[in-house]
Amino acid sequence: MIVSNVEYSDWRNMSECAVSLGEGINVLWGMNAQGKSNILEGIYYFARGRSFRGAKDRELIRFGCDFTRAKLAFRRDGYENDTTLEAVIPKTGKKHLSRNGAPLSSTSEMMGSFRAVLFCPAHLTMVTGGPLERRTFLDIAISQLSQTYLTYLRRYTKVLAERNMLLKNAASGTRVTETEWDVYARQLALYGSWIAAYRAEYVTYLSEAVARYFDGMTGGRETPDLTYTSHGLTETMPTPLSNMAEEPTAAQDALYEKLTANIDREIIVGSTLWGTHKDDIRLSLNGKEAKLYASQGQQRSIVLSIKLAEAEISKKIGGEYPAILLDDVFSELDDSRRNYILGSLDGRQIIVTSCEPDIIPSNKSGNITFRHVKDGEILEE
Ligand code: ATP
Ligand code: MG
Repeated sequence: MIVSNVEYSDWRNMSECAVSLGEGINVLWGMNAQGKSNILEGIYYFARGRSFRGAKDRELIRFGCDFTRAKLAFRRDGYENDTTLEAVIPKTGKKHLSRNGAPLSSTSEMMGSFRAVLFCPAHLTMVTGGPLERRTFLDIAISQLSQTYLTYLRRYTKVLAERNMLLKNAASGTRVTETEWDVYARQLALYGSWIAAYRAEYVTYLSEAVARYFDGMTGGRETPDLTYTSHGLTETMPTPLSNMAEEPTAAQDALYEKLTANIDREIIVGSTLWGTHKDDIRLSLNGKEAKLYASQGQQRSIVLSIKLAEAEISKKIGGEYPAILLDDVFSELDDSRRNYILGSLDGRQIIVTSCEPDIIPSNKSGNITFRHVKDGEILEE
């Protein structure tokens, strides 16, 4: 899929701004604080349903304004017409989302229609940070590929919050019946086992592709490995991303067992100690934990490889390459890595931000478009 156009009204520092984009490499360049990342934030909003910078919806509204509006037009492979997605976010009250002019009832309904892979320097925390960073990566990547996954994830999160509340209440003397504990354990085991199955399958693809890209990028003296760790993991897991037929019954039984066996301990702690909310990806380089042993350059190459792999899996499962958004990434890379990334993504749409226009290696030919961003506008040149 290809982003053809994005329009903003009172989005961050842009009062009215339209950005037309094309196939190949699109460079959004300009000085600091001009609105380059704001443009990417608007595009990615339609893939993720929220800001990639952790901002709340209302923080996207231009200072002093009452609402903001963004509209994305993108072209799916093999289609003649653009699909449009629009978000209108008021300062108070509910946001309105629509697809091709027809209202969407929720963010979940929007998810999956437009897919994008975003990489910014903060994503280094996928290697250096804690499990939450890696789970969030999985959740965003898989939610773009499966509405069912997103549904299970939402249900799991809701039931987990309720159970944690129940544990706290139990600690302060509220009587909770066996049946109540059982209902919660069953639900968490059901949704959790599906979540684990999706994640396990995803990480299998990821590990293979990351090793391949890392090898290509660095010349291959060391090999990265990604292993999914989860309480919901059993010896054999179904593969729901590619084949929905099987149910993860063994994983469900394993989780149910854990969620019923240790309630006394959980009451003392006041939170649920077993389940897919504790999952992680173990990331290693030649068998050693990447967080502790990999050099900074290697850590960056691992994250770049993960992003290239994410795009490849998105194509494998979703049938189309996603739009690739690179925020401030190229300036930190040497020419050989830039060349490798551009070579790997040859023919794909890439939207990249940079302070300098000349970040594309000079040997690179083909479709390259430059847009100069200044003060929340695109300068005509
Ligand atoms: P850099 O090269 O430093 O990354 P950038 O071009 O990516 O810069 P942006 O992050 O897009 O810059 O931000 C541009 C400007 O938008 C900043 O000066 C910021 O203060 C401003 N800004 C952020 N939120 C709002 C808002 N809600 N209303 C108005 N301006 C905002
Ligand atoms: Mg920026």
